[in-house]
Amino acid sequence: MTTLEVPESHLRENPYDIAKEQLRRVAELFGVDPNLVNVLQECKKAVVVSVPVTMDDGTIHALEGYRVTHNIARGPSKGGIRYHPDVELDEVKALAMWMTWKCALMGIPFGGAKGGIRVDPKKLSPAELQRMTRRYTSEIINEIGPEKDIPAPDVGTNASVMAWIFDTYSMNKGHSVLGVVTGKPLNVGGSLGRLEATAHGALYCIQEAVRKRDLRMADLRVAVQGFGNVGSFLAKFLAEQGATVIAVSDSRGGIYNEAGLDMAAVLAHKQETGALEGLRGAESITNEELLLLDCDVLAPCALEQVITSANADQVKAKIIAEGANGPITPTADEILDDRGVLILPDVLANAGGVVVSYFEWVQGLQEYFWKEDEINSKLRDITTRAFNETWRTAEERKTSMRLAAYGLAVRRVADATITRGLYP
Ligand code: NAD
Repeated sequence: MTTLEVPESHLRENPYDIAKEQLRRVAELFGVDPNLVNVLQECKKAVVVSVPVTMDDGTIHALEGYRVTHNIARGPSKGGIRYHPDVELDEVKALAMWMTWKCALMGIPFGGAKGGIRVDPKKLSPAELQRMTRRYTSEIINEIGPEKDIPAPDVGTNASVMAWIFDTYSMNKGHSVLGVVTGKPLNVGGSLGRLEATAHGALYCIQEAVRKRDLRMADLRVAVQGFGNVGSFLAKFLAEQGATVIAVSDSRGGIYNEAGLDMAAVLAHKQETGALEGLRGAESITNEELLLLDCDVLAPCALEQVITSANADQVKAKIIAEGANGPITPTADEILDDRGVLILPDVLANAGGVVVSYFEWVQGLQEYFWKEDEINSKLRDITTRAFNETWRTAEERKTSMRLAAYGLAVRRVADATITRGLYP
């Protein structure tokens, strides 16, 4: 047996150490009992599984998979599944903790979880991807379930992967269990609006920030890093709202046009060629250059730790909307904060996905499906309320949007823990 080759990681710092340090800072600022911090900084459960997969050529690869539940004080745990060559246990733990805060901030009755497999899904055939997903699901079948822990898509996974998880789980139970996973295709119990939900949530946050800062969407120059589920829809929606999208990128690099990219042409080119590069009328730029462009709004929508102490002082954007989870390291965060950059933190700016996942879970349990405009309007209400609560808290405490958002969330989880009492 062999394992697939793993390249150098994008993680410069340990994400779980960062998440724990953020929790300690927030707890201090918001007066959370240190005894509770001792509970909240640990993950309730972390499962590491081996996922043996027969490749199309007959060889067998043993991949490493994870499923982590951080906290269930406010409800079953919820969080995506990531297929990426850099996935490691501490990254999954950090992402699980951030999910706990995100669900609490949005006021939805879930705790936090995350999962993943250390693999490059682009190197797998569709059949290999399906076999791997089904075996991984079998390995974690006792951990997940509609009342327990509900996975969703994240980097490198999509609706098809969710359909295989749903089917594998259902085959083992002997009946269809719609509530076991969200982000499913529409024809097997998915929700209208889920595909675009994370980008919609980010758009609503940017629109609120624009209002607060007395700006106009039509005057905004925007750069978006990452052109997957979150980044591609966000760039499209911002352009539809009148903003000028000057640059977008994927893992292979970016494209730039000072006068603005035609998003319909970008999306068509990406669909046709699988890449962004080579679009007529656009210059090539690197991912590093994109982050430093002179723009009003920067939306990192790819991976963690792209803005660090090494480049934070060169970032020119006035507003950063964290479509990705953890794209700014704590040191970079302080540098940007000191310079007056308005950061819309991940737990707020990319929470649209989990909110509509919650709607999908509710619809699945009720076997009753809602209209798309109902879903989008409920999403806007929840996002706008969370944005305004965070804004108000930041003003009252004279702190950043990030600390305000985490503070509100941590307090809610701490309160639920106190109300329930520590078992036994
Ligand atoms: P995706 O797999 O659909 O897209 C990821 C994109 O990032 C791709 O365009 C890929 O080419 C690009 N990318 C990968 N490595 C890169 C690199 N080193 N530099 C630049 N670009 C790179 O994933 P997604 O679902 O859009 O998730 C993106 C981010 O948003 C992640 O941080 C994820 O945790 C977060 N997020 C996603 C959702 C969701 O609903 N999908 C919800 C909340 C948060």
